[in-house]
Amino acid sequence: MQTKFQTLLSIFLFWMASMLSMEVVASEVRDIRVAQQDGITRLVFELSEKSTHRVFPLSNPDRVVVDISDAHLSNAVVNNLSALSSDVLMRVRYAKRNDGVRFVLDLAQAARAKSTELAANQTYGPRIMVELEYGEKKPATIVKSLANLSQEKRDIVIAIDPGHGGKDPGALGQYKVREKDIVLSIGKELARRINEVEGFKAVMTRSTDVFLKLRDRSRVAREANADLMISVHADAFTKPSARGASVWALSLSGKTSEMGRWLAQQENAADLVGGISLDDKDQLLAEVLLDMSMNSTIQMSLNIGQSVLGEMKNVAKLHKNTVQQAGFVVLKSPDIPSILVETGFVSNKTEAKNLSSRTYRVKLAAAIAEGVIDYYTKNAPEGTLVAWKQKKHSDYIYTVSKGDTLSKIARRNQVSLGVLRKANNLKNDVIWVGQKLVIPAG
Ligand SMILES: [Zn+2]
Repeated sequence: MQTKFQTLLSIFLFWMASMLSMEVVASEVRDIRVAQQDGITRLVFELSEKSTHRVFPLSNPDRVVVDISDAHLSNAVVNNLSALSSDVLMRVRYAKRNDGVRFVLDLAQAARAKSTELAANQTYGPRIMVELEYGEKKPATIVKSLANLSQEKRDIVIAIDPGHGGKDPGALGQYKVREKDIVLSIGKELARRINEVEGFKAVMTRSTDVFLKLRDRSRVAREANADLMISVHADAFTKPSARGASVWALSLSGKTSEMGRWLAQQENAADLVGGISLDDKDQLLAEVLLDMSMNSTIQMSLNIGQSVLGEMKNVAKLHKNTVQQAGFVVLKSPDIPSILVETGFVSNKTEAKNLSSRTYRVKLAAAIAEGVIDYYTKNAPEGTLVAWKQKKHSDYIYTVSKGDTLSKIARRNQVSLGVLRKANNLKNDVIWVGQKLVIPAG
């Protein structure tokens, strides 16, 4: 017979188990868009998961509160929240509230607020639309999207992957040179040089002497939304006479040189050092190989590789002056262009000596960085700061509405008061409703 204690204990354990299995999927507020049309300001809160919400007005001063349960904000939303405004919406503030988030919409005047839940469709996730209506009919003006704003000036991210590490020393060369040390040193210098350039950011798969599986290397790149992954190596070859730096991209055709096969074999064997075989990944690889987008990724990798070779030839003797292709597992990311730089052969006396010199490694890293930066400056991806700086941004005409002050307009449009005065030949800060102001391009 159960004692009272046993009964209580089993009830408690049951309760614990049900608490643990009750998984609450928190929603992320990914974007907030504001549109103004015909006297109505519409805010659309885009969520990753459906979430409950409530909306209520407060007066003195006029504001509307939007509570969303079990939610947090994406970085794009947090960083750009101050950019949201319309003629009635002065600004949006937020605070964490229980497990959710509370938005406070500060208004220029009282407005009727209503909200509608919109179900996910092919383009968007679940959304909450909040409409602020205040009667005045005005033409459509501004549509802003925080996610777009944030994407407009993102950094170009270069993932740097020094090969081997930890229990996998890589090639052991002449003069007791170890590949894992050489490539870590070159990788760190490469990252330093890339980070020095505005609009570029480097992430490293490893910055210490640790072992990483090949798949974990591309995972680092993917999680950082990398535009490019560069794997850095300094291998050994069977013939000590073999020398010269080379750049490799993935081959889909299986056609590869004797050296390509050898190098790929050496690199791909790295996972075996960690005690796992690549066999279980065959299915994934097969799918990856079927992915047609891979072809364009490879073409881009070849172009970037060529730009890198163009700079490296000033520093190192090249094995071949075109990008070569082989079946490296580490390069098999269908969506991220990837190159593998063989900085030289540590099995060759001259190159082992060169690579053991810090001055040589710094020069080599500088050349690789130059090749990458040159390529991405000429081919800046849409939405990056580098692309944004190259565009001619057009000015924008703003019509002054009730409640506006010059400083408020300047703040909202992220221009300085001085720049705004100068662009409009204003001698003082007096403005009137209906006046058209030039908001100069950033
Ligand atoms: Zn290697």
